[in-house]
Amino acid sequence: MGMNKVKTAVVAGVFTASAFLTVGSASAAPKKFAGDLAYDHVVHLTEEIGPRVAGSKNETIARQYILNELEKLDLEVKEQKFNYTRRGVTSSSANAIGVKDNPKTNKQIIVGAHYDSVSAGKGADDNASSVGVILETAKALDKRNLPYDIKYVFFGAEEEGLQGSNYYANNMTDEEIENTIGMINLDSLLAGDNIYVYGGAGEDGWIRDLALKIADQRKIPLQTNPGINPKYPKGTTGDWSDHAPFKGKGITIAYLEATNWELGDQDGYTQTEKHGGIWHTKNDNLEFLEKEFPGRTKEHLNQFTNILTQLLTDIKKEL
Ligand SMILES: [Zn+2]
Repeated sequence: MGMNKVKTAVVAGVFTASAFLTVGSASAAPKKFAGDLAYDHVVHLTEEIGPRVAGSKNETIARQYILNELEKLDLEVKEQKFNYTRRGVTSSSANAIGVKDNPKTNKQIIVGAHYDSVSAGKGADDNASSVGVILETAKALDKRNLPYDIKYVFFGAEEEGLQGSNYYANNMTDEEIENTIGMINLDSLLAGDNIYVYGGAGEDGWIRDLALKIADQRKIPLQTNPGINPKYPKGTTGDWSDHAPFKGKGITIAYLEATNWELGDQDGYTQTEKHGGIWHTKNDNLEFLEKEFPGRTKEHLNQFTNILTQLLTDIKKEL
């Protein structure tokens, strides 16, 4: 979300067999639940590092952590540095990028999430959650042959006005834009009462529709914005996160998030019935989320990791 706006047995019992995801190659290591690695990343980003304010030392530390995790995989790793000026002050940030290259094609899918946070809270929901899910997904797909490149992009300075994603999108060539099958953004996956996927209007919503189909097959209660509020028609959402600059370039987007569209101004901003919005408050930390919403954190990480991994695989069937 940008501007404007440790238990196993008990939890495991509610998961179906399809919740399992084989991580890594054919080793004898025990199967882990999808989302377990994502959870470890969230712990590191929020408890070891803490708030990751754009342009701060902590934002750099978080980026180094992500780059280091990407280096462990079979990816080409890059750092895309940029400066931005806000309220008369110029700051430096960077995007962390891991490229899963298929040498036979220039077609690509961009999967993105911001790794910076505001200073209130530790940014567990917004947005360590998405960083964790993407890192786990990248690992799960590391050895898979897919008929497109996947670019995992971790954006800096989202909370300062989508700086990282704007910089990235504005530096794409026309050819790259033409070759981009879609951009999938993840933002704030833990706190919200319900899990959602959004997309563009009309035919531009095909990645959203595919995600909904996958969720249905896996009995995951993923839904889309019901469109109660006429400002945000059914299936779509607002331009407040890192999907917006890509949508602006005419790229098909999908966007995964947890919130509750039935509450407050019905604009997706009031995430929970119990505590209202969690993002950008001191409550955005694992301790609070796990105490107030038992089981939700790990369940959402499991669900989103499953959906994203399958989505990145199944997009090939739609081409
Ligand atoms: Zn966010």
